[in-house]
Amino acid sequence: MKKLLIVTLLLFSSISLFAQDVLVEAESFDNPGGWLVDPQFVEQMGSPYLNAHGMGKPVKNASTKVNFNKSGSYHIWVRTMNWVPGEWEAPGKFQLKVNEAVLDTVLGTRSGWGWQYAGETKINKKNETHIELVDLTGFNGRCDAVYFSTNKTTPPSSPKKLAAWRQELAAEPNAPEELKTYDLVVVGGGLAGCAAAIAGAEQGLKVALIHDRPVLGGNASEEIRVHTEGIYGNFERILKKIDTKHYPNGSAESKLDQQKRDENVKSYDNIDLFLNWRAYDAISEENSVKYVDARQTFTGERKRFTATYFVDSTGDGWIGFWAGAEFSYGRESVDTYGEYWEEHGELWSPKEADNAVMGSSVLWGSKDTDSPQSFPEVPWAMPVSKDYAEVNGEWQWEFSRNDLSQIDDAEEIRDHMLRAIYGSFSNAKKDEVNKNRKLEWVSYLVGKRESRRLVGDHIFTFNDAKEGRKFPDGVVIEKRAVDVHYQTVLEDEKNPDFISEALFYRGPQYYIPYRSLYSKNISNLFMAGRNFSCSHAGLGGPRVMLTTGQMGAAVGYAASLCKKYEVMPREIYTGYLQEYLDLIEEQKYEKIPTSKK
Ligand SMILES: Cc1cc2nc3c(=O)[nH]c(=O)nc-3n(C[C@H](O)[C@H](O)[C@H](O)COP(=O)(O)OP(=O)(O)OC[C@H]3O[C@@H](n4cnc5c(N)ncnc54)[C@H](O)[C@@H]3O)c2cc1C
Repeated sequence: MKKLLIVTLLLFSSISLFAQDVLVEAESFDNPGGWLVDPQFVEQMGSPYLNAHGMGKPVKNASTKVNFNKSGSYHIWVRTMNWVPGEWEAPGKFQLKVNEAVLDTVLGTRSGWGWQYAGETKINKKNETHIELVDLTGFNGRCDAVYFSTNKTTPPSSPKKLAAWRQELAAEPNAPEELKTYDLVVVGGGLAGCAAAIAGAEQGLKVALIHDRPVLGGNASEEIRVHTEGIYGNFERILKKIDTKHYPNGSAESKLDQQKRDENVKSYDNIDLFLNWRAYDAISEENSVKYVDARQTFTGERKRFTATYFVDSTGDGWIGFWAGAEFSYGRESVDTYGEYWEEHGELWSPKEADNAVMGSSVLWGSKDTDSPQSFPEVPWAMPVSKDYAEVNGEWQWEFSRNDLSQIDDAEEIRDHMLRAIYGSFSNAKKDEVNKNRKLEWVSYLVGKRESRRLVGDHIFTFNDAKEGRKFPDGVVIEKRAVDVHYQTVLEDEKNPDFISEALFYRGPQYYIPYRSLYSKNISNLFMAGRNFSCSHAGLGGPRVMLTTGQMGAAVGYAASLCKKYEVMPREIYTGYLQEYLDLIEEQKYEKIPTSKK
């Protein structure tokens, strides 16, 4: 079902009787052309938006049709922003075309998200009105919505008022009307979420997997292109259905494993897959999640998901956060868990707790061609990239700063990386040796390493890994070195702030207990992935994707036992641990088909 794109409302105001308002959400345009729907920052700026991600080449026009109920002269506003305000022309400029006329106003030039006045136009209700977004630069112009009104009152800007105004215009009821009910709702389709859905479904649970992207895998997907590392532990059979080969980070070869992963997850009849659906709320009553609400990222359609059990595998711990689960963010003080590593002192574990976390990355690459390739000047990128010159980016292209939250400031972090990339490539192009180099691919998705960590009955720490501590409920096994990143600028401020270093600690094989995979205070909530229960240094090893995949599979099996005995996740540890461990052991092997028994 396609959402009503255009919402009309007859306003009875003191200024104008019978004014007409028409709001067109950009992400719902009939044809996005070369613009991409970007839903990464909905919680902060209020909506998905269209992003002209052309890597320096203007993208094809986005277009849509609108029917008006009233003819007349309309004022037009566009919700947009100049993503690098400064003493240069805005990087992401575009114009609006209404029917045959391109309006003079250049858009994308105001600082911070808000409404930019675009001009006035005559509308004849008898004809369908055509709107197009005309990109001028190919450098990430942003359009959230286009608003027409016969009244010249600027729409609200503050996030709260804007959300209420949008809801009123759309005449949207508070709760989604469509209800879906499952045994297990998994939110976030990275490796952890995919594995949880598969394990649960194989055990007969009716599962919903809600994921805000068109493809599965999170950071492993062809959209972000990180290869999966770690070991399979107890879950080789499942993880081989969704993992990747060891191509270089950022390689286009990631597409091959994408197909395998998507097909395998889709092959389960009892997994209902909701791709391009983003959860935006979760409500708990008496410390138990009752439902998760989600919205289709293009059409705005909404559904409410109820279930007996939920898995938060969003990476950012969103479900736990909304439902009131305890969580942590940043580095604990060295005394909290005694996570000393003498050699690296404060860089590893600080005297005082702080907000430092591993940063987020945008992977990118270029290729050599056999003819000269131009690249535009990017003065707005230079204050970040300075004289750094590079033609490809690997995992070290990473940005974190203690005053920036990897959740709330994620758009600023992504944009900082875009400036670093475009500026560094532009510097590299000045070298004759790169004259045939073409910028081939820059992700527009921010690949995250660390943000919220939900608190479970056990908080996994660096010492658990360092000592290879054995737990009675150790369901995840890993032997990959623990590595924690820091920004190189911390050691020498002349270093670029967008490049990181890793501290590797090589220790024994280690184990993660089941008690780190369910919430301490929300009784029916599991977590798997980088938002599992751990300290900052404890996350250093298990954040890699086969380990997070193991966590997912482990909670999928636990959920099936929960259903069998009608108990909550904690009770699997207190009452059914041996059966749980036996179930995992049994799943290591391919089942013999009944026909061959
Ligand atoms: C550049 C880079 C290099 C790295 N190198 C490696 C490496 O070589 N090997 C390795 O294994 N790991 C590597 N890592 C770490 C690893 O990728 C992450 O720690 C891991 O992806 C975390 O897994 P996850 O499933 O918890 O989260 P993700 O992979 O981030 O998956 C979570 C998914 O949930 C979706 N989501 C979030 N919120 C919602 C919502 N509200 N509704 C619906 N969906 C939602 C997100 O879009 C995302 O796709 C690297 C990370 C980066 C950024």
